[in-house]
Amino acid sequence: MSIKKPGLNTICTHVGELEDKEYKGAVSPLYMSTSYAFEDVEVKRYPRYFNTPNQVALSKKIAALEHAESAMIFGSGMAAVSTALMAFLSAGDHIVLQKTLYGGTYNLVTEEFQKFGISYSFTEGLEPAQFEAKIKENTKVIYIETPSNPLLTITDLAAVATIAKKHGLVSMIDNTFASPVNQNPIDFGIDVVIHSATKYMGGHSDILAGAVASTAEHMERIFHLAKNFGGSLSDYTVWLLERSLKTMGIRVKAQNENAQKMAEFLYKNKDVQAVYYPGLPSHPDHELAKAQMKGFGGMLSFELNETIDAYRFQKALQLIKSSMSLAGVESTLLLPTKTSHALLSPEEREHQGISDHLIRFSIGIEEIEDLIEDISQAIEKSKA
Ligand SMILES: *Cc1c(COP(=O)(O)O)cnc(C)c1O
Repeated sequence: MSIKKPGLNTICTHVGELEDKEYKGAVSPLYMSTSYAFEDVEVKRYPRYFNTPNQVALSKKIAALEHAESAMIFGSGMAAVSTALMAFLSAGDHIVLQKTLYGGTYNLVTEEFQKFGISYSFTEGLEPAQFEAKIKENTKVIYIETPSNPLLTITDLAAVATIAKKHGLVSMIDNTFASPVNQNPIDFGIDVVIHSATKYMGGHSDILAGAVASTAEHMERIFHLAKNFGGSLSDYTVWLLERSLKTMGIRVKAQNENAQKMAEFLYKNKDVQAVYYPGLPSHPDHELAKAQMKGFGGMLSFELNETIDAYRFQKALQLIKSSMSLAGVESTLLLPTKTSHALLSPEEREHQGISDHLIRFSIGIEEIEDLIEDISQAIEKSKA
């Protein structure tokens, strides 16, 4: 493509696409081969080396979306998280992690790191000083997630990047909740950006994938570990993910708009006691979110009044599905205490500020009037 600095939706639609030289088809051809002849090629192509035609093509699109030099696609978000972390951590090293993390990442750290001789500290809060306070002599990585799951807290990207640079550490972010449409952490100095592509990148609740984007140098290091860990994605799913990314810009912008309207509706509703959405001026980090995000995202959380049974409310919904996962074009919600954060102890949940009434809401692209009508009728039906 000859456009010098393509914008978001042009990147989504075109960057990296493979030309169908034979038939001039509109979409990238899908190459399913796991074996490629050595003649005339310098690279030994093999899916687990992350270098099949479709893998390379999609990696270019993801790198462009995250303003990164290079990117890789993985078989799941957790394959991306674990490979990126282990590429920069060895026995005897220490990592500082944000206290509010995706449940799977929390489990990876707390259940597995000890046996590799890697020590870790979680921050007490999210202010930059809280990260610096946990840094030790042997710290190698700072790991953040913003907006966070499920309370949509915001961590200061530029401040964390500055602290990491000052101490010679690698900074990493799980950028899943924002998606590359709403936030590009590399622009703020963060080193490594990770995505569960199962969420907004896939966007239709039918793809399991992950991605990492960074400098060519960091990605080289991640690649060396990744080919041994073997977490690559099958080419058919790579091809599907390319298709999904074409509409990511317009999907996520529609979700941003719906989420803002839903948050405002819930905020004004007398049956709702709290709404957590960075797009609301009442959010404690609204100004910070405005400074580092291009849109506030499609995720929000809220708490119904104590007199309303959150479980009955969920049952009464007609349009919005109660389900695990998030970021699809369809709206879904869940109770974190019963699902995404069920494995945490009650004390750990309290420490993270997750109450039993908290409802996590992933806003889809349906008409906002229909979503509001569904929420309203379910609230009425579940009043004691
Ligand atoms: C879902 C998710 C992951 C894990 O991704 P998988 O694709 O399920 O492995 C990591 N981080 C966040 C924030 C997520 O929402």
